[in-house]
Amino acid sequence: MMMSEWGRRVIGAMSVDSCLCCHRELMEEEEMVCLECLMHFPLADSAARQNPLWQLLVGKIAFEHATTLAYYQPKDAFAGLIQEAKFKDKPYVNGFLTRLLVQQLEGSGWPYDIDLIVPVPVHWFRLLRRGYNQVSPIVQTLSEAWHLPFEKRCLLKKHYAKSQIRVSREERRQNETGTFCVVHPERLKGKHILLVDDVSTTGSTLLACADVLRQVEGVRLSFLTLGLSLHV
Ligand SMILES: [Zn+2]
Repeated sequence: MMMSEWGRRVIGAMSVDSCLCCHRELMEEEEMVCLECLMHFPLADSAARQNPLWQLLVGKIAFEHATTLAYYQPKDAFAGLIQEAKFKDKPYVNGFLTRLLVQQLEGSGWPYDIDLIVPVPVHWFRLLRRGYNQVSPIVQTLSEAWHLPFEKRCLLKKHYAKSQIRVSREERRQNETGTFCVVHPERLKGKHILLVDDVSTTGSTLLACADVLRQVEGVRLSFLTLGLSLHV
């Protein structure tokens, strides 16, 4: 059954026998990552203003809240997980990481008065080449956990940019300028929007999306990513 297989892959109901980080066989109560590897995750401080995503964005744009699950180095096991989800056909890993983040944020006030989840868009050509969108399981998991609607068709990526992995911070910022646009602004008007991406390094993609979203009347913004990568 193609459809159910696809659904399981995306939402994270896939069974995984060995730890995605160390490949040791998983115990009954473990899911995707063994407890030992989980203990070594570079979890970020979830307290509002100590969170590294909040600290990265503050002063650059007006926003309400910002949080990330982990603050990691490019060689960390956590970076490996993000890569698996993004490039190795395992988007369900992001569903697992999102559930961890939701647990971390329990009792913290999240999702506050957020009305709508909007993912950072992927250009249709990249989607076609990769065959899946690694941000979808994040959005679906958050939507289910927090009972929030999401909107994938209002924020679009206009240009197909080459992978940003090997470009400088300045080039990256220039590449992002004018990359995104809003359609159907009436669906976003007056809403507190949670902009979601898998990872951020310099914040430039989040800021470029935020710039166009903020042009819609009455929009307030918050940000969430699974990881913030130290830029080296
Ligand atoms: Zn492990």
